[in-house]
Amino acid sequence: MANSKMFDQRGEPGTGVGSTEGIKPISNFIRFIIDRDLESGKHKSIVTRFPPEPNGYLHIGHAKSICLNFGLARDYDGVCHLRFDDTNPAKEEVEYVESIMADIRWLGFDWKDKLFYASDYFERLYEYAEDLIRQGKAFVCDLSQDEMRAYRGTLTVPGKDSPWRDRSVEENLDLFRRMRAGEFEEGSRCLRARIDMASPNINMRDPVIYRIKKTEHHRTGDQWQIYPMYDYTHCVSDALEMITHSICTLEFEDHRPLYDWFLDQLSVPCHPQQIEFARLNLAYTVMSKRRLLELVEGGYVRGWDDPRMPTIAGMRRRGFPPEAIRDFCDRIGVAKADSLVDYELLQFCVREYLNKIATRYMVVLDPLRVVIENYPDECVENITADNNPEDANAGTRTIPFGKVIYIERDDFREAAPSKWFRLAPGMEVRLKHAYYITCKEVVRDPASRKIVELRCTYDPESGGGSTPEGRKVKGTIHWVSAAHALPMEVRLYDQLFTLPDLSEIEAGKTYLDYLNPDSIKVIPNAVAEINLGNAKPGTRCQFMRQGYFCVDPESAEDKIVFNRIVTLKDTWAKLEKKMESGK
Ligand code: ATP
Ligand code: MG
Repeated sequence: MANSKMFDQRGEPGTGVGSTEGIKPISNFIRFIIDRDLESGKHKSIVTRFPPEPNGYLHIGHAKSICLNFGLARDYDGVCHLRFDDTNPAKEEVEYVESIMADIRWLGFDWKDKLFYASDYFERLYEYAEDLIRQGKAFVCDLSQDEMRAYRGTLTVPGKDSPWRDRSVEENLDLFRRMRAGEFEEGSRCLRARIDMASPNINMRDPVIYRIKKTEHHRTGDQWQIYPMYDYTHCVSDALEMITHSICTLEFEDHRPLYDWFLDQLSVPCHPQQIEFARLNLAYTVMSKRRLLELVEGGYVRGWDDPRMPTIAGMRRRGFPPEAIRDFCDRIGVAKADSLVDYELLQFCVREYLNKIATRYMVVLDPLRVVIENYPDECVENITADNNPEDANAGTRTIPFGKVIYIERDDFREAAPSKWFRLAPGMEVRLKHAYYITCKEVVRDPASRKIVELRCTYDPESGGGSTPEGRKVKGTIHWVSAAHALPMEVRLYDQLFTLPDLSEIEAGKTYLDYLNPDSIKVIPNAVAEINLGNAKPGTRCQFMRQGYFCVDPESAEDKIVFNRIVTLKDTWAKLEKKMESGK
C-alpha cells in the first residue's frame, strides 16, 4: 500500500505530532546529496529555488515542491529563491504572479529579497544565444513546425539534419538579430541548438532555443519579438542565480543532459546540479494547471479558490491550515518513483492539527424541534461548556438552554433499531453539556405526515454533566436552543472526482466524465449556538459530531456561511491502528 510505506518514511507513525517544526527532518536522497556536497566543500551553503510558471494558481503538488525547496534552505541555513519562469507570454498573467506569492507566504515561507523573473534575464539569455551561434553550436532553422517534427525521428528512428544546419556563423547572427528585430513572421524561423540529430535522447536532437512570438509580455511589454524556450532559460537562470541544487520533478530527468549541455557550452558563473524527485499525485483529483484551468473556465467549479479544488487557494478557503499542509508534505517525503497518495492522509494531517486547536461548538444541520414539557416556560439557563477537551487552557463558554431546542433530525428514530443509543419514543438520551431528556410524543404535520416536533421531558437531577444515581444513558447528542439559534448556511464537500486514480480513465472518456455530481451539498437552514455569531472569515472550529468547519469569505453578518473542512471520521487513523496491530 503506497500510503503505509510513505507514512513509515517519517519513522514515527502515531506519535501525534501535528507540526513538524522543531523535529529533526527525516533524511532522503536529496538531503544525502546536500550533506555530501557540504562535507566535501563543493558548496559552503546551499541555494535552492522554486520556479513556478505564472500560468495558473498553485496546487498541492506545488506545495510539495515549495516545502521541499524552502524547507531545505531553512534546514541548511541556505536561501531559496522565488523565480517566475515567465517565458511564455501567451499564457501568463499578473493575477497568477500575485496569487502565487500570496500562496507561498500563506504556506509559511519567505523568499526575502530573492525574488526573480526569468524575463529579467532576457538580455543575458540573448547574449548567450549569440555566443552559441559564434561557437557554431546554434543555428537559425527555416523548417516549418510540421517539417521539424518529421525530421526529428522517433524513439527508434534517428532524426535527420535540418537543411539549414550548416549556415555560416555570420548568416546565423544576421538572421537571429533580424528575428529579434521583428522582421519575420511567427513560425517562419527559429533558433536551434546544434547538438546531435542521432542522439537516442530526443531532447538532444537540435532542440529549439528561441521562437518568434509577437505577443506582449506581462513584464517586458512589446520589447521582445522572440522568446527563449524553457529548457534553455531554466538552466541559464539557475546558473545566473548561483543555484546549487536545482530540484525538479521526474519528467525532467530526460532533459538533464540538455541542462548540462547548455551550461557546459556557456561561460556561466556556475553549474548547478539538477536533481529530480517524484511529483505528488493525490487520489481523486487532477493536478495539471491546464486541467484546473479547464475546470475554472468551463464553470465546473466556482473559481480557482473553490473549496473542492486541489489549489492552495481552494484549500485555504476550505479551511485547511497551512501547518497541516506542511505536515502532509513532510510525511509523504521525497522519492524517485511516482505514486498516488491517499487523500485520507491529507485529511488525517488536517484533523490531527485541528483537534488540538479547534474550539467546539454545537450546530444542528437538519433541525428537528423539541419541546421540553416540564421545563419552565420562560427560563433560560446559561450552561458552561469547555471549549476544547484536548486543551486545558482553551477555556470555557456559556451556552443558553431553554424549553425549546433543536436536535439533529437524524438523532431521532421512530422505530429504533437494536443498539440505537440516541432518541426514540420512550428512550432517554443525554443532551451534551445539559440534561437527560426522554421522548414522550411525536407530532406530525397533518398533511404531509412529516415529523415536525418531539415532545419530551427532562430530568432536573441530570444537569451539569452529572449522572443521576443508578442510571446510565449511552447516547449523547448535540442541540441548540431555539430562542437563541443562529441561522447559517453550511456547505459540505465530497471529492471532486469519483475515480481515485485519474490516470486510469476508460477509453473514450475524459477526466470530466468522472466529475462527482455530489461534490457539494449546500445546507441553507442549519442552526448554530449563539457563540458563533461573530466568527470572522477564515475562523476554524469543530462542530461537535459533524467535523471541522471554516467560515467562508462570502460570509456576512446577515448570512453566515461555513465550509466543512473535513469530517471527524478518521479512516487514516483506523488504517494506521490496523497496521500497527498487524491485522
Ligand atoms: P502543472 O503540470 O501542474 O502545470 P508545472 O510543472 O507546469 O505544473 P510549474 O509552475 O512549472 O508547474 O511548477 C513549478 C514547480 O513546481 C516545478 O519545479 C515543478 O516541478 C513543481 N511541481 C509542479 N507540480 C508538482 C507536483 N505535482 N508535485 C511536485 N512538484 C510539482
Ligand atoms: Mg513547468
